[in-house]
Amino acid sequence: MTSTPPLSEFTTLRVGGSAAAMIDATTETELVEAARQVWADGDDWFVLGGGSNMVVSDDGFDGTVIRTLSRGIEVLPPETRESSIPAFAQAPAARERIQSPNEERVRIRVQAGHPWDELVAETVERGWSGLEALSGIPGATGASPIQNIGAYGQELASSLVAVDFLDSFADAPVRIPACELGLGYRTSVFKQGRAGIVTAVEFELHDAGPKSLGQPIGYAQLAQSLGARLGDRVPIQALRDAVLELRRSKGMVLDADDQDSVSAGSFFTNPIVSERFARTLPDDAPRWPTTLDQPDIVTPLGSDPVVPPHRDPAEYRVKLSAAWLIEHAGVRRGFSLPGSRAAISSKHTLALTNRGGAKAEEVVELARYVRAMVQTEFGVLLHPEPVLVGLSI
Ligand SMILES: Cc1cc2nc3c(=O)[nH]c(=O)nc-3n(C[C@H](O)[C@H](O)[C@H](O)COP(=O)(O)OP(=O)(O)OC[C@H]3O[C@@H](n4cnc5c(N)ncnc54)[C@H](O)[C@@H]3O)c2cc1C
Repeated sequence: MTSTPPLSEFTTLRVGGSAAAMIDATTETELVEAARQVWADGDDWFVLGGGSNMVVSDDGFDGTVIRTLSRGIEVLPPETRESSIPAFAQAPAARERIQSPNEERVRIRVQAGHPWDELVAETVERGWSGLEALSGIPGATGASPIQNIGAYGQELASSLVAVDFLDSFADAPVRIPACELGLGYRTSVFKQGRAGIVTAVEFELHDAGPKSLGQPIGYAQLAQSLGARLGDRVPIQALRDAVLELRRSKGMVLDADDQDSVSAGSFFTNPIVSERFARTLPDDAPRWPTTLDQPDIVTPLGSDPVVPPHRDPAEYRVKLSAAWLIEHAGVRRGFSLPGSRAAISSKHTLALTNRGGAKAEEVVELARYVRAMVQTEFGVLLHPEPVLVGLSI
């Protein structure tokens, strides 16, 4: 398979062999046409944005890669002064958003290939708040709902209104409201198997007016770096700058001069375990209570409404820190297996990095080692955050 440049040239971890074919789609129409062509030909396929959340096999991909390069931000006409997201449809974070009396809402529709951080920079410059804490995340806007990106106390779900989505083998995209996307901690219906292509993403932001205050700070370390308290509001540009500085200190901003940024971001998600299990961990293990989404209860027409069952406290869930578990299992920053060119970042335990010329297999070996160490020490199985193409750990 040598017909296209190796995918290592298109992934931030710089690993991956060639694909059989690659199509660059520079407009929404080209994206839809490319997909329909590939589906008609019966090829295997996947969508590539910025390649910042995937690990591709050294053997490459025996199918067609559709690359999203469509750009553009369109300001949509205001619908009403009320939020266009019905209250029942909003993700929890959205319901908690603070709205000052003088703030107007702005709705925008962004093309899938638009670089994410260029979008954030543009919204911050215009004084539109809602995405500022997500500054510095690499990749394309179309990928942002796939794992419901989040950082520094903000999640995409709190500003996302809808996506335009071309279901696999469909003729045209449909608009899917955020409430139907199953958005959760680093997940969505797209990670659970709904195949297709996000062609555009719609957001609702706050026009923060002349003071241009960002959304309330939701992350202690960020508050500290701004000399503020959790829940305080600071100018939106100051918040972006502080996030970028913190991210740089952790190698979490792509930087040609920083080898620690040659990664796929956090390699493992924070595990979510039962409260009972969490109690078995050492006292100093960080843990945060979290909710498990209540499944929908379907009541057949004509029957009595179903009373939600009482929940056993054993069902309550606790989120753990993957970084803490890895460090306390004895895997230190900068660690690498003998002879391997893959290493734990020297700035951030959760990032697996390519120190130069590493193969995907070396990264995967390191990931397996980390996972085995944590499992042996604490009995917790870590799950990879990036999408693995042609690989498993
Ligand atoms: C240094 C660094 C820091 C990071 N920090 C964070 C962080 O703080 N928070 C966070 O959440 N993530 C973070 N990430 C992970 C990553 O940047 C995000 O998940 C980002 O949204 C991925 O975008 P992408 O365009 O690079 O996706 P890709 O890697 O190209 O694709 C990822 C997955 O999404 C699919 N996909 C991409 N575009 C589309 C589309 N238009 N339609 C359908 N499917 C699509 C791909 O097929 C693949 O399965 C970080 C990564 C790096 C390298």
